[in-house]
Amino acid sequence: MAISTDTTVLVIEDEAPIRRFLRASLESQGLKMLEAAAGQEGLLLATSYKPDVLLLDLGLPDIDGLEIIRRIRDWSAMPIIILSARGKDADKIAALDAGADDYLTKPFSVGELIARIRVALRHTAKAQQAAERPVFQAGDLRVDFTKRQVCVRDVEVHLTPIEYNLLAVLVRYAGRVVTHRQLLKEVWGAHSTEQSHYLRIYMHQLRRKLESDPAKPEFLLTEPGVGYRLKDDS
Ligand code: CA
Repeated sequence: MAISTDTTVLVIEDEAPIRRFLRASLESQGLKMLEAAAGQEGLLLATSYKPDVLLLDLGLPDIDGLEIIRRIRDWSAMPIIILSARGKDADKIAALDAGADDYLTKPFSVGELIARIRVALRHTAKAQQAAERPVFQAGDLRVDFTKRQVCVRDVEVHLTPIEYNLLAVLVRYAGRVVTHRQLLKEVWGAHSTEQSHYLRIYMHQLRRKLESDPAKPEFLLTEPGVGYRLKDDS
């Protein structure tokens, strides 16, 4: 699903100036916005209107934001984007692990907001179609899943099975942040979620193979303190 005038965004945020900024930004793009200043009211709006996207502040006066994510995940896969304060990495990680899809760090621009909503909607659409992209392309990076082939600028790059699996997980979530814990769990298994050094080592190797300047990655982006995000410009 692309952004359209039928797209409804629910905002649960107790700070009125941020709600006003969001309303102006979303309406300027032709999106509909519903708003709640507290969690209880927000949950009620979520169940009655079933919005396409939820923008959720974690610090609400009545219900903890994490609890809101859990309650919504009981019945809905709607994309949830966290509105987070700077320096709250632990909160962001807990929210992503609880089932949120992504986050925006305040203050953010209209451009960032719309880009995150677009990625979130695309992921829901893909999940609904249950159609995997057999070939992923972002800039000069191309991954062909049927051939298990990775190319950069049309030159094939040989990856070890673990490097390939790590890249495949990032491609599956392309454009979205994936936490260290999620990556460790998907690539190495549930017993390895504390082994963050595995991830550092393999990410370093992947960047060395895929990036023209591994110190300034173009595809494999670091989300400081949280995880990684594969650039997706498709
Ligand atoms: Ca707040």
